[in-house]
Amino acid sequence: MPPPAHFKNAFAVLTSNPLSTSDVLVVGAGPVGLTMACELARHGVRPRIIDRLKQPSPYCRAIGVTTRTLEVWEDMGIAREMIDAGIWIEGSRTFVVGQIVDTRFDLSDLPFANLGLPQNDTERVLTRHLASLGVEIERGVTLESLTQTDGEVETVLARGPDEKEEARFRYVIGCDGAHSAVRRALGISFEGSPIPAEFMLGDVHIDWTTPRGMVMRIFRPGPNGMPDFLVAVPLPEIGRYRVSILSPPELAAPAEGTGHGIQSERPAPGIAPLQAAVDRLLPEKAVLSDLRWSSIFRISMRLASKYRQGNVFIAGDAAHIHPPTGGQGMNTGIQDAYNLGWKLALVLNGVGRETILDSYEAERHPVGKDVVDRTSRAIPKNSREDEDRLTDTQVLISYRGSPWIENSPNGAQPVGPAAGDRAPDCQGLRRTGVGFPFRLFDVLRGAEHVLVVYCTDSDPDPELADLAAFGTELQLADALRFAAIVKSAAKATKLPPVPFYEDAGSDFEKTYGSGQTAMLVRPDGYLSWRGDSWRESELRRQLERIFRL
Ligand SMILES: Cc1cc2nc3c(=O)[nH]c(=O)nc-3n(C[C@H](O)[C@H](O)[C@H](O)COP(=O)(O)OP(=O)(O)OC[C@H]3O[C@@H](n4cnc5c(N)ncnc54)[C@H](O)[C@@H]3O)c2cc1C
Repeated sequence: MPPPAHFKNAFAVLTSNPLSTSDVLVVGAGPVGLTMACELARHGVRPRIIDRLKQPSPYCRAIGVTTRTLEVWEDMGIAREMIDAGIWIEGSRTFVVGQIVDTRFDLSDLPFANLGLPQNDTERVLTRHLASLGVEIERGVTLESLTQTDGEVETVLARGPDEKEEARFRYVIGCDGAHSAVRRALGISFEGSPIPAEFMLGDVHIDWTTPRGMVMRIFRPGPNGMPDFLVAVPLPEIGRYRVSILSPPELAAPAEGTGHGIQSERPAPGIAPLQAAVDRLLPEKAVLSDLRWSSIFRISMRLASKYRQGNVFIAGDAAHIHPPTGGQGMNTGIQDAYNLGWKLALVLNGVGRETILDSYEAERHPVGKDVVDRTSRAIPKNSREDEDRLTDTQVLISYRGSPWIENSPNGAQPVGPAAGDRAPDCQGLRRTGVGFPFRLFDVLRGAEHVLVVYCTDSDPDPELADLAAFGTELQLADALRFAAIVKSAAKATKLPPVPFYEDAGSDFEKTYGSGQTAMLVRPDGYLSWRGDSWRESELRRQLERIFRL
């Protein structure tokens, strides 16, 4: 097929191969694009992933990794590697108008605490993982334009001024950051405003008495609601911190821009302004040395009006940007990708209904709005004390309001999580023939939906046999697994036709209630449906909404 007329004459050299349609293009190999590509590959779809940078960015922006992101990484099989490279953020030491407050984060009731991991390391591990799944990043390739026709997306990809490629895809996902070319090509508005100040970042060694693993935050109220401040976040290397301060006036840009993020085109400031901020704000003596890199950065608060147009999606900073308070940006973007990856793969693999793609924006746009609102509110008062201890861990994020989630109308509000909530982990599940306990996350891990059935009957065998027959009838072998949790395995003596685990420590019962229950858990660990019994017709209806039954 010849290239469309509007592509002709535009470029000096076009690749001569006739256009062929690939499935998915991921634009941008930051943490969100990498997660997107890894998730697609894990679910059996091989994407192309491009990044305009020839080398990964040398700057460390995100450090804070939330509990929920670590749960996602555990499912992806990379949590150990990430934890090995990081440092646990154990609390914060805050100086405000002469007072010192030490706060320790207690997240011992969750699977993971707060990890500190430089964004470059996150990207390094994700890149290696992606390569292990058989996908290499095409670096030095820029998306120049895209147009949509007949359910396909036509793109122009540039490898330099003289080398352009026209390529068609069924889906394109813009993970191309705050200044997203994909979002602009779609004409999606990015409403919000910039913070009228500039900030400075530096990676530096600090010699002081602050205990290792503590974030240091020093604030002094300033004019116009913008305080003088210094925040030092510990890096894994002993004594090293990523420090941010309000940029001193002498470093101000001649013209106020509205950009967001690292201003890498501006000259990198030296160590003096950082040392001056410490001397000015900290009562104790602290010596800064060995500045490895520094930069000016700017912050805006903006939310895309839509996350999808036709066959093109946006995720991560392309969809939402906000202050780094609470370390939410990268984490939110990673979870955008984790939400969309399995849905796209299900559709492309011909098993899922295309309509489930609508649930991406329905579920993730409210999350982006909440993050932008919360982090923007936190900026002038420098305090998030009114928030739940768990808010920043992101384990409370729920899709309960999503039209794609179904609670059984027959049952009362269930004990523990309802449909739309994240399925929390529980421990102490025993399996016949296995000499160690399982966690519920072990049972759920993988690319499929899992129908978890909790049997309280003293003789679960008949129910398990019926459940197996239901599975045979559905014929969704690669997309849906069954797992039974039995209160007591005493009577389940035969080799059951459905994998079953005994709730030996009663932890499942404590988390999900003591009554008979069934729940459909999505590949991203959220409850798609929950009811009293898997025999309820609403379960079948929910399966029919997701799968091509
Ligand atoms: C100072 C600071 C501290 C922060 N701290 C935290 C924190 O602790 N925790 C947290 O969760 N978040 C934090 N963030 C936010 C976090 O850095 C971002 O949310 C995250 O980088 C977003 O990832 P992304 O993949 O969406 O975008 P990016 O990381 O911006 O990646 C986008 C990629 O797309 C590529 N690209 C752009 N345009 C094109 C194109 N046309 N063609 C091809 N490629 C293209 C770019 O080269 C880039 O590699 C912080 C941010 C700042 C500035």
